[in-house]
Amino acid sequence: MKLRSSLAGLPAYVPGRPPAPHQGLTTYKVSSNENPYAPLPQIIEAAERALRTMNRYPDMAASALHHALARRFGVASSNLATGTGSVGLLQQFVQATCDQGDEVVFAWRSFEAYPICAAVNGAVSVRVALRPDESHDLEAMAAAITARTRMVLICQPNNPTGVGARATELDAFIKRVPDDVTIVIDEAYVEFADDPNMPDGLELFRRHGNVALLRTFSKAYGLAGLRVGYAIAHDELAQALRSCAVPFGVSSIAQEAALAALAVEDELQERVVHIIRARAEVTQALRQQGWSLPDSQANFVWLRLGSDSQRFAAFCDERGLAVRPYGDDGVRITVGDAPADTRFLEVAAEWRATRP
Ligand SMILES: *Cc1c(COP(=O)(O)O)cnc(C)c1O
Repeated sequence: MKLRSSLAGLPAYVPGRPPAPHQGLTTYKVSSNENPYAPLPQIIEAAERALRTMNRYPDMAASALHHALARRFGVASSNLATGTGSVGLLQQFVQATCDQGDEVVFAWRSFEAYPICAAVNGAVSVRVALRPDESHDLEAMAAAITARTRMVLICQPNNPTGVGARATELDAFIKRVPDDVTIVIDEAYVEFADDPNMPDGLELFRRHGNVALLRTFSKAYGLAGLRVGYAIAHDELAQALRSCAVPFGVSSIAQEAALAALAVEDELQERVVHIIRARAEVTQALRQQGWSLPDSQANFVWLRLGSDSQRFAAFCDERGLAVRPYGDDGVRITVGDAPADTRFLEVAAEWRATRP
């Protein structure tokens, strides 16, 4: 048997772990950037209704969902593609744009699915180091584009550092990218961004023929377990993305729940506001403890702990908190669940007290 050569050395996706059980200790999972709120009743009811027809295939074109998204964002239905989470769409993007050996440029450290999606589809990852302030080095990313580059991924704001590119610099970057290179702006956390200097992704999509947006129902909309994401892309690319989709990949339950979530967006938005407030409180409390960390535009905070990262994660784990360490780079902690935030701040203070 022969396997595709690009699979050699493929990094494994490391999901955020659930907390290890500890006798007499409440444990919290703050390792996967999930929405801490249980689904709203209207969403559960819509999903339950869809369950009753699960002997039937879903609408392969997800027409109702595409129409609802088109209305919501003021684009044409032909600009939409859905997939099994935005990770599913990420694969569709690589499949739609890259031949074997073509290059995908992205920042590093960034979302760990990027190198995996590139490799499993035969593309080559080109990683460009983040700047010291944890933001994308857009200058270096533009310089990394070659004749083989088909796609550039901008994680906006970046997972795991929480920092986003400013509108002006992203605009300047887009102008430097050749027209035949697709720029995918991964806006998985865009609903949590409140910095007025952040770009309006939809506006960038409208102004540039090679810009596409990647979005998800997993984070702000709280549907991570149902696997549904969407892309907003210009017609030809959107059509190609739909062609690359796993047929019937987005279940009828996911389609109906996503539609119901769009219908109760105002209520979901209130939860997002709470999470944004929690992020500000956690950030401020950490700084008061003496930590330095970037301002996050997402539902997590980032501590660049370097060689202490794994030790800090183990320290948290022993105290009932599953956080997400990244090698020797840092640790990402999801915020927004009040008891977990409180516990985390206690543990962070305890860690500092044990350090000289
Ligand atoms: C969580 C996340 C996604 C969303 O993944 P889904 O497959 O939609 O659950 C996409 N991009 C980034 C950067 C993420 O952190």
